[in-house]
Amino acid sequence: MQYTLGKTVTYEGTGLHLGKPVRMTLRPAAADSGVVFVRTDLAQAAPIPVNVAQITTTMRATALGSGDVFVITVEHVLSALHAMGVDNCIVEMDSPEPPVADGGAADFVALILQAGIVEQEGRSRLRHLTESCAVYDDAGDRFILAVPYDGFRVTFVSENPHPLLGTQVVDVDVTPASYQREIMRARTIGFTYELDKLRAMGLAQGGNLENALVYSETECLSAPHYPDELVRHKVLDVIGDMYLAGRVQAHIIARKSSHQLNTELAKKMAAQWAEEE
Ligand SMILES: [Zn+2]
Repeated sequence: MQYTLGKTVTYEGTGLHLGKPVRMTLRPAAADSGVVFVRTDLAQAAPIPVNVAQITTTMRATALGSGDVFVITVEHVLSALHAMGVDNCIVEMDSPEPPVADGGAADFVALILQAGIVEQEGRSRLRHLTESCAVYDDAGDRFILAVPYDGFRVTFVSENPHPLLGTQVVDVDVTPASYQREIMRARTIGFTYELDKLRAMGLAQGGNLENALVYSETECLSAPHYPDELVRHKVLDVIGDMYLAGRVQAHIIARKSSHQLNTELAKKMAAQWAEEE
């Protein structure tokens, strides 16, 4: 079986990085069509299918493109769709970036639940990994790997030099229930001393103390949603980035991984599946 939404739903807000107002509409889609982004603000823009071939940049956020048309910071809405088991969906946006919403994926999960999830005819799109694969960064202290697993599980080790953060570890067997309980409310982290630099680069324009977990040198300025919210958000991002390879069935194990490493692993897994088909 495959799954899509029961009806069309809409959410209005502001993008995290570009800070632009955006209206995002999630529509049911036909079996075997996958998840597709459509820019409704551009006349006759080609739809952007969610797969590894469309990845453009992974600086601070994951971006997808097709020709001149692009969408950025897609990982949180993809995380919600992946974890809730939605195979086919059209994501329309009248701006390049989805709404930051709650800063995690809780508002997107609420939106998906409001739409309802319905079964469709068609062969399951779950993709079982048969061989391990891994990606290491050049310095060697960051990695992400995937091993065969009956289900979808993510283990993440985060290490941050900030005195209030340090080492955080989370291990979660990803199901709609565990995702809603343990992951979806975890927000992006931000540091006050990085903010000027990010804003000068045109990033984090839509971030604030409510939709991001913000730290100064000595304290947390936001009210935390989880004691280890940083690493839980890293898991949220991994679940979103892995959806570029499909409905992943594997155990993902990562240390200090970034969008760049995440998407490289997604490419390796997608290549393995392409070879098997
Ligand atoms: Zn994120």
